[in-house]
Amino acid sequence: MDTLKEYKALLAEIGKLDSAASLLEWDERTYIPQKGHDARSEVLGKVSKLGFELFISDRMGKYLEDLNREEVLASLSEKDRASVRWMTHDYNRLKAIPPDLFEQYTIDCSKSEFAWEQAKAESSFELFQPHLQKMVDYARQFAELYGYDENPYDALLEGYEPGMTTRDLKAIVEPLREALVSLLDRVTEQGTPPDTSFLEGDFPVDKQRELCMRALEAMHFDSDAGRLDVSVHPFTTRVGPGDVRITTRYMENRLLSSLFGTIHEGGHALYDQGIDPDLTWTGLDTGASMGIHESQSRLWENQVGRSLAFWRFFYPQLQEVLPEFEEIPVEEFYRAVNEAQRSLIRVEADELTYNLHIMLRFELEEALVNRRIEVKDLPEIWNDAMERYLRLTPPDDAHGVLQDVHWSGGMIGYFPSYMLGNLYAAQFFATAKREIGDLEERIERGDLLTLREWLREKIHKYGRMYSPSELAEKVSGEKLNPRHFVEYVTSKFSDVYRL
Ligand code: ZN
Repeated sequence: MDTLKEYKALLAEIGKLDSAASLLEWDERTYIPQKGHDARSEVLGKVSKLGFELFISDRMGKYLEDLNREEVLASLSEKDRASVRWMTHDYNRLKAIPPDLFEQYTIDCSKSEFAWEQAKAESSFELFQPHLQKMVDYARQFAELYGYDENPYDALLEGYEPGMTTRDLKAIVEPLREALVSLLDRVTEQGTPPDTSFLEGDFPVDKQRELCMRALEAMHFDSDAGRLDVSVHPFTTRVGPGDVRITTRYMENRLLSSLFGTIHEGGHALYDQGIDPDLTWTGLDTGASMGIHESQSRLWENQVGRSLAFWRFFYPQLQEVLPEFEEIPVEEFYRAVNEAQRSLIRVEADELTYNLHIMLRFELEEALVNRRIEVKDLPEIWNDAMERYLRLTPPDDAHGVLQDVHWSGGMIGYFPSYMLGNLYAAQFFATAKREIGDLEERIERGDLLTLREWLREKIHKYGRMYSPSELAEKVSGEKLNPRHFVEYVTSKFSDVYRL
């Protein structure tokens, strides 16, 4: 069938342009010389625009229209049908925004990000307020253009978590919050806190790098199909088939930042490396959603990387690289890497408090989009919410409402993906434990391959063929169920804090 062939050829063309853009962007975020930034932004903008224009072209519209005819759809393979399904989904969203509006939005985003950086450095919300107002106005306008059934916030969520709604999220948040707050109270009031003094010190970068490489090797990260580099903010990017780039950052006084950062990004990378090669350039050679992608990074970072089983295997390697740990028992080290406490900054939050930071942002975003609150009142509302969720008051806006980059770049509706990632990670890991009876013993022996293969078979290879909830059902036999996360943290922190 010619239409299918031409459609796939067009997707391949777009995929290759996106691949070029990814590499340009990776370079911009890692090693580009200072003076190259301005020209690079223009080149990147140009290449991205080429791909974008092809995607929303009339040609693509025509192909999708033809391929979506019932009798044609029925004749397609499962993979091709999935491609048509998700490309139609994306096409309709992108077409909903008039090109002039989108171009103005892109320009305003970069101004807003720049203003945010300054505002954060000076801890001045006033500097950021007019820009944030614009971003919120765009979000409200885009939600109307995308369309929704119940809540305009649903239209924004759809861009990150297809199928997820505000109603679903609220049903997850309320009981989860109650469970977490009561566990956190028990931990802080009755628990025995771990000694973390030995995590402070002077840890040379080359030794940290050695550990990061050993961890990646243990995870069976394919070094012939990816590499580890350095950047200010760690990230993962899939440049193309056979090429997944991850980064970490080294801080001499903080050993765990680079290591857990590497394991986290390594989890993202294993997902990208495990996608079925048949899906290359089909638009499906990516993760099912932001939340599912994050579930893979979190699973490796937390369920594996912060488990006693993992440290029984990996601790001797750490001691070999850093002999000062020879005197510290592995159990104490394991307890230290699981310290839990209420804190102001999301990116530094532990497993127990992290979701509370997300709930706060979800509450505020949803209220902003629905005009129940206004931008000018945000600092005060943020601080009140911090008091409600974490019983803390930020000393200034840099440690409060200005801490995250997302809103400045128009990413309203993204935060819930982080929480969903944590919840999916616990659910998938519980399933893996059930299906691989001796999983923990295997991890303790340093066999992480069994788990990687299980994840590849159940999740990674499908790329974006299924929606997040379809995938969850396929993997674990049920839709997203926060019970698994609650059980996981309850058991872990009862152990760590000797409750
Ligand atoms: Zn991540």
